[in-house]
Amino acid sequence: MNLRHLSARSSAVQESVIRKVFEEARDVVDPINLTLGQPDFPVPDVVKRAAIKAIQENQNGYSSNRGIDPLLKKLAAKLNAEIGWDVSATAKCGPGQSGLMVTGGTSGGLILAALALLDAGDEIIIPDPYFVLYPRLGELCGARAVTCDTYPDFRMTAARVEKLITSKTKAVVLNSPSNPCGVVSTEKECADLLELCTRKGVLLISDEIYDEFTYSEARTSKSADGRAKVCPSPCRLPGAQENCLLIRGFGKTYGFTGWRMGYASGPPALIDTMIKLQQHIYICAPTPLQAGAVEALDLDMSAQILKYQKRRDMVVERLSKVTEVPHPGGAFYAFAKVPERMGMTASEFKDAAKARKVLVVPGRAFSSRDTHFRLSYAVEEGVLERGVEELVGLRGG
Ligand code: PMP
Repeated sequence: MNLRHLSARSSAVQESVIRKVFEEARDVVDPINLTLGQPDFPVPDVVKRAAIKAIQENQNGYSSNRGIDPLLKKLAAKLNAEIGWDVSATAKCGPGQSGLMVTGGTSGGLILAALALLDAGDEIIIPDPYFVLYPRLGELCGARAVTCDTYPDFRMTAARVEKLITSKTKAVVLNSPSNPCGVVSTEKECADLLELCTRKGVLLISDEIYDEFTYSEARTSKSADGRAKVCPSPCRLPGAQENCLLIRGFGKTYGFTGWRMGYASGPPALIDTMIKLQQHIYICAPTPLQAGAVEALDLDMSAQILKYQKRRDMVVERLSKVTEVPHPGGAFYAFAKVPERMGMTASEFKDAAKARKVLVVPGRAFSSRDTHFRLSYAVEEGVLERGVEELVGLRGG
């Protein structure tokens, strides 16, 4: 075929730098791979069994575009308990009566939201550093993703966002806990951002894929039922359901990133539009794996989260002796500054680390700057310790 046939839209989409780092690393024998954006624990057996049972019982066809009823029911109850939202718990509701859908991963939810919201020339405000898909949401829709510079503390504050809102702004993306920084917004930051978005008539999209990976000190909010301590969220504030789109995933929390499972909840008119698009694009999330997700929602993952918190403590304690590491209250990443004395870009630092068999992702994968690197601690403790030791021992050339 002729390359001229490729659309301008697809040509505008930049390749993922993370992917390139993976490819470059193929020649490293026995690497200490600290680039991984997925948990290192196996899918709990009860979840595997439920998915296998669904396959064996021939639940292998399409599900409702919205999702299977048992999953919608559990998600509706969860949202009600955690954030006080009232959403319909069945796939059979009519237009404007729901506000909840199961998506093909968190990415699926984000893409449907972008397609539902953005016309050519529109703007969506995203944090910088960002999750790699966010800039692509603009490129895919012929719109513009406007980056909000959050250096040096990586906090997505209303004051920083307000300066960027124009008559073309349709939405603001908040990602807490964040990838790549691990920063968790406070309740006040969430409230200020929601107040700003509501005042300006802009939708707030809250990407909470790492919500369960929120460590004890950052879990300051009470859930709507007043019992559990949970991650702060703008969605929990009064009136939020009118003006927030909540997008969450299952893959990180339960270790099944490859199952492509997520969910979205928000203003019914927006969810209805996303479901209409899903009918044509993804049709539904994988049906038997939805049955696995039903079981997952009953699990208590706190022992795993505590393990990650201990790894986080070790990584931050060691790295902060040699460089700046903004405190990661959640997710499973540290976003550390390349020590200034080394006089290197993060890409050069990545090469220096690779020479010692340690793989990290340079900041330019997530940012217009190349001053920091992302380290994932979703890696077995012994390997992680060796990797951190090597990084701490690196000297500038
Ligand atoms: N949002 C963020 C912030 C992420 O880090 C990721 C995955 N790394 C996603 C969304 C996409 O997740 P999923 O695998 O559920 O599509």
